[in-house]
Amino acid sequence: MSTDYDFDVAIIGAGPAGTSAALTLAKGGKEVVLVERGQYPGAKNVSGGALYGPVINELIPNYWEEEGFERFLTTKKISLLSDNKAVTIDINNQNFKEPPYNGVTVTRPKFDRWLAKKAEEAGAMILLDTVVEDFVWEGDQILGIKSGDDIIKSKLTIIAEGSSALLTEKAGLAKFPKPEHYAVALKETYELPSDVIESRYGLEKNEGFSNEMIGYAEGIPGGGFFYTNRDTLSFGLILNLKKLTKKKLKSTDVFEQFKTHPYIQKLIQDAKMIEYSSHTIPEGGFKHISKLYGNGVLVAGEAAGMLLNAGLYIEGMNFALEAGKIAGEAAIEILKMGDFSSNGTKIYENKLKKSFVYKDLKTFKRAAKFLDTDRIFTKYPDLITGLMEKLLINTGKPRKRIVKTAVGYVLKTMNILSLIKDAIGGWRSI
Ligand SMILES: Cc1cc2nc3c(=O)[nH]c(=O)nc-3n(C[C@H](O)[C@H](O)[C@H](O)COP(=O)(O)OP(=O)(O)OC[C@H]3O[C@@H](n4cnc5c(N)ncnc54)[C@H](O)[C@@H]3O)c2cc1C
Repeated sequence: MSTDYDFDVAIIGAGPAGTSAALTLAKGGKEVVLVERGQYPGAKNVSGGALYGPVINELIPNYWEEEGFERFLTTKKISLLSDNKAVTIDINNQNFKEPPYNGVTVTRPKFDRWLAKKAEEAGAMILLDTVVEDFVWEGDQILGIKSGDDIIKSKLTIIAEGSSALLTEKAGLAKFPKPEHYAVALKETYELPSDVIESRYGLEKNEGFSNEMIGYAEGIPGGGFFYTNRDTLSFGLILNLKKLTKKKLKSTDVFEQFKTHPYIQKLIQDAKMIEYSSHTIPEGGFKHISKLYGNGVLVAGEAAGMLLNAGLYIEGMNFALEAGKIAGEAAIEILKMGDFSSNGTKIYENKLKKSFVYKDLKTFKRAAKFLDTDRIFTKYPDLITGLMEKLLINTGKPRKRIVKTAVGYVLKTMNILSLIKDAIGGWRSI
């Protein structure tokens, strides 16, 4: 095979991982092509939409002055739901109101397009409506990508195809999680004028909140999410696939049932649903990170299993952005060295191991197993909402001391051994 390359680097997928890699490489003066199967970046992407601020600010300084964003997040709410009750922890922090902002909401069609435009302005070529089907192989060396009869030859290829990981598998790098470590996410987008969003949820202009919800999902591990955008709302439910199958439940039925909860009804009332989508998410965590490099190839983002679900944190987009940036930086070094075998591409793994992406996945490596415990999604929401009812209800009779009522209620409702087991599990994993 001739070694006339079309590009230094070909990147598969214009999600956060691929575009971040393309931007980094283009800024570094490299010839890079970003290939996306959608008609535009973000067309095929489903996401709740809470993005932490620092990584994007490193990629695009003062990013908030631009158009890719919805609202900055000052409030995070975590709600436990049971039959007709809800208990919500409302964490409001005015420090998060200052640039570079701790978190912002994004809608993927807008955010992905904006980021891709930045990569294009930096010099990356973007090829849309093109499905990469295979690689150009020379022995066990990857020398580019194939789409139908079209071939693009490149010294290096970065796979950033998201959770399907089909090409990651073709490259011999995939480490697929077990079925219990896949979730299905259902998402709806609702339209609501921005002034109504602000008055209804008590927000200032451009300010937003996120609300994660546990419980009231037929006992399936997972949880709901709700984010305020400029003039839309992102609302959805993430459900463990194995438990759904085991209970012979349809995700759409569980979602419809979830939506009947009075707490949720109030969140979405009078808003008009304008979009519905669903997607799978790998939640295996650290143990299921794929092999990150091979001969002529690197893999970044969700394609490599880089998604953290540790209950309080659900992070995928900022992991993808950071991993893509590191893949881009590693590619620049590899191109300089000229060693495209796995001996050379290993640099990427070394770099990634020093990043928060790898370190956080390692810190929370037991979280996936702990969050697979049904009790967390059934017993505890019932326990907390029931306990609060018990403590607050007025029966017209003398009250007992709060601690006595609480301990009595917990002991009556929960198996003490399970409680101890979960406390130890929680301590060790999250
Ligand atoms: C419902 C839902 C809610 C979520 N909420 C959040 C959240 O609030 N915060 C957060 O940080 N993360 C969230 N995530 C996770 C987050 O969306 C992902 O972790 C993140 O998008 C991963 O980025 P990526 O670039 O690796 O992959 P993706 O965003 O999936 O991008 C991959 C791209 O590759 C393209 N592609 C795939 N195959 C090919 C091919 N063969 N040829 C050409 N192009 C191809 C796709 O079209 C896509 O554009 C959520 C996910 C879901 C499903």
